Amino acid sequence: MNRAARIRSMDCCTRHMKKLNGTVIVTYRCNARCTMCNRYKAPSKPEEEISIETIKKLPPMYFTNITGGEPFIRTDLKEIVRELDKKSDRIVISTNGFFTDRILDLCREFPDIGIRISIEGLEQTNNEIRGLPDGYRRGYETLRKLKEMGLKDIGFGMTVQDRNAADLTALYELSDKLGMEFATASLHNSFYFVEAKNIIHDRPMVARHFEDLVNELLDSNSPKKWFRAYFNHGLINYIYGQKRLLPCDMSYDTFFIDPYGDVMPCNGTKEKWVMGNLNRQDWDELWSSPEAEEVRRRVRRCDRQCWMIGSVSPAMHKYIWGPAWWVFRHKFLRFYKKKKYSMYEIPAVRDYRDGKVTKEQLDACSTCDLNAAADNGLSAASAAQLKDRTGEEIVAEDLAGQMTGDTRKR
Ligand code: SF4
Repeated sequence: MNRAARIRSMDCCTRHMKKLNGTVIVTYRCNARCTMCNRYKAPSKPEEEISIETIKKLPPMYFTNITGGEPFIRTDLKEIVRELDKKSDRIVISTNGFFTDRILDLCREFPDIGIRISIEGLEQTNNEIRGLPDGYRRGYETLRKLKEMGLKDIGFGMTVQDRNAADLTALYELSDKLGMEFATASLHNSFYFVEAKNIIHDRPMVARHFEDLVNELLDSNSPKKWFRAYFNHGLINYIYGQKRLLPCDMSYDTFFIDPYGDVMPCNGTKEKWVMGNLNRQDWDELWSSPEAEEVRRRVRRCDRQCWMIGSVSPAMHKYIWGPAWWVFRHKFLRFYKKKKYSMYEIPAVRDYRDGKVTKEQLDACSTCDLNAAADNGLSAASAAQLKDRTGEEIVAEDLAGQMTGDTRKR
């Protein structure tokens, strides 16, 4: 049965069930050393990581993101994708692009899959931020080879911060020249990133680079890019600590599942909010449980104001009129009045420029807490590994085992 027929037949069996947007965190192991994410210091234990049996219990999804840690550290990733492919209309894997051969091998079997490689700027900036030896060249080479193979859904992902904001438009232009997607994010603090101290220091400088990007995107002929412009406008609003431009409906039709089978609304919370555990429960029981309902109530009261594509993309589809009106207004102003987008349309950006709010006041609106110890969301067994060794040592040993063919570890 081909893919379309399989999805049609799955649709038929699950007519009563609305398809969801899911993110599967297959591992917390990571070989990068990013400055804005400490996950590499807190890896999951391979033996505990989400199994194929648990993956089989996931519901039908219209979009599935596979992420980590670094997902390609798992040597059984292909089997995981094989299962997810049966229940997902579209799959995108977020990766640092380091394991080129594994990525190419997987894409040979799944040429419709999406691959997003994190690149944090031009060569020097990227390698400083991600701490991966030769990371830029390897990531870029992986993308180039995927392009040669004819893969359509490929692109860069960049987490914009003070150190790399100056490279933002250059990287966008590079991706555009190569005919690739370009996804942006900014700094967040959460258990997922094992971080509580991420913050943008020079907001006007970073916002100015986002403003340039918004203008380039609005200049294009692609409606998809116009909506990306709106997303980046939302990022300026976010780095100024303002209320999200759209409601957050995570846990209603969107979920995350972590390597331990814990189902959560998102990856933006300070500590994990658990709706249930898919290793122990079946999906319907978990999704309609009192614990899941309680998490939904918490989401309604959540004040973290994240602006990450995982929570914003479903909201942009659901509340399409807000973004559509913004796009229409800006295209109209450009075309008829030759007026470019300005970051000063956001009141907080104007207020800061005019001295009506201070940097300290804006800092206080962020989730950065210099006194907080970041939660890492690890299980007791994964945390116990860290008694005698660092996360970096554990993952390095694990990877060395994989290279020498020790298959006891996934
Ligand atoms: S705003 Fe939404 S995505 Fe962010 S932590 Fe709260 S519930 Fe999660």
